[in-house]
Amino acid sequence: MNTKIINGTLLLYENGVFKAVKDTLYVKDGVIEKIGTLPDDGGYEVFDAKDKLVMPGLINMHTHAYMTFLRNYADDVDFEEWLFKRVMPVEDNMPLEAAYWSSLLGYMEMISTGTTSFVDMHMYLRQAPKAAKEIGIRGFIGRGLVGTDLYEDEGATRRFNEAMTELEEFRSDMIDIVISPHAVYSASPKLYEQLTKEADKRGLLKQTHLSETVGEVENCIKEHGKTPVELLRDVGFLGDRTIVAHCVQLRGDDMKILKETGTHVVTNPASNAKLGNGFAPVTAMKGTGINICLGTDGTASNNTLNMFREMGLLTMIHKGLEKSPTAAPSNFVLETATVNGARALGMEGKLGVIAEGAKADLAFVDLNELSMFPNNNVISALCYSANGSEVKDVMIDGKFVMKDREFTTIDREKVYAEMRRIVKENL
Ligand SMILES: [Zn+2]
Repeated sequence: MNTKIINGTLLLYENGVFKAVKDTLYVKDGVIEKIGTLPDDGGYEVFDAKDKLVMPGLINMHTHAYMTFLRNYADDVDFEEWLFKRVMPVEDNMPLEAAYWSSLLGYMEMISTGTTSFVDMHMYLRQAPKAAKEIGIRGFIGRGLVGTDLYEDEGATRRFNEAMTELEEFRSDMIDIVISPHAVYSASPKLYEQLTKEADKRGLLKQTHLSETVGEVENCIKEHGKTPVELLRDVGFLGDRTIVAHCVQLRGDDMKILKETGTHVVTNPASNAKLGNGFAPVTAMKGTGINICLGTDGTASNNTLNMFREMGLLTMIHKGLEKSPTAAPSNFVLETATVNGARALGMEGKLGVIAEGAKADLAFVDLNELSMFPNNNVISALCYSANGSEVKDVMIDGKFVMKDREFTTIDREKVYAEMRRIVKENL
């Protein structure tokens, strides 16, 4: 289906600045064909975007959608207890289908709040990509990998083989597979080194959790004599095809190393604050020129996958922390949720922007909502006023997956019913 979007205000990005411009947009074969007017525009279905801001779909650069059924399950407990005593025991006994419905529910929340692409780390063979394919969201998905040795440790081999199964079965224009060692406390330096070679051989992106807590950093220094960042540099894991989540507890030369290797950092303000891990040095990282992206992390630690709330927190936290109203300004915050994510994914100019030749991944925001009105500055409004419910329609790859707040590809009630059953059986 080809679409002509009329009467909308387009959120464009030129020379590092977002601006709102009234214009017509043509979508053909999943791609933005033209901004402006086409002389012959027969054969396009017309979509009236009157009083709507047409913005690039947001990119959630770090999440675990399979955990959505754990929303509000383990709150107000310390990190060790949260991860090892509450979350992991449930995960270990979770049936495969729970991960499927849970992922679907997570994607529904993402879409309903304007996210069209996400980077995910999961644990259950096939469920995350299968659900993504079904609902029609763009996914960069990786099986979480832990262990000591890719070839000698049976568990590590099995998990890597699962990732390769997903690669074969799901890699497409909509789904890519990311090599995803979990963290320095659960995957050995050797495993990181081996996975780097395997990823490079196949041209795959890599992701990991890095320097999230004080405990992780201190134990790593005790065990290896280096920070987690130094450790991953030394095994060759860092680089411009690598995405690292958190980076809250950076020490010494860590920032310099991240910059020099071209590693992309994902900040997760809600998760880091809620688990009491602190605040990533976002302004300092930005100052060194590190590419900073934004992610929600999973619902067990956030407890929402709403990128609008994450954008609001990012700016508020860093303004407060630095006692400066100019810290993390709205233009930068929007970049972390769009173009910076695209750059980290090697999709610059294809995702996170409204531009001719880019993927038609769009969110339509109602400018008449009370939280947005009057429209004095829509870029400010997205960052400081919106809560995500203003997103009325979402297009991914040229197809509407949500229209007037209704999902077009899945049955919301069916997902709710399955989720109620799964919670009853597993929690
Ligand atoms: Zn995470």
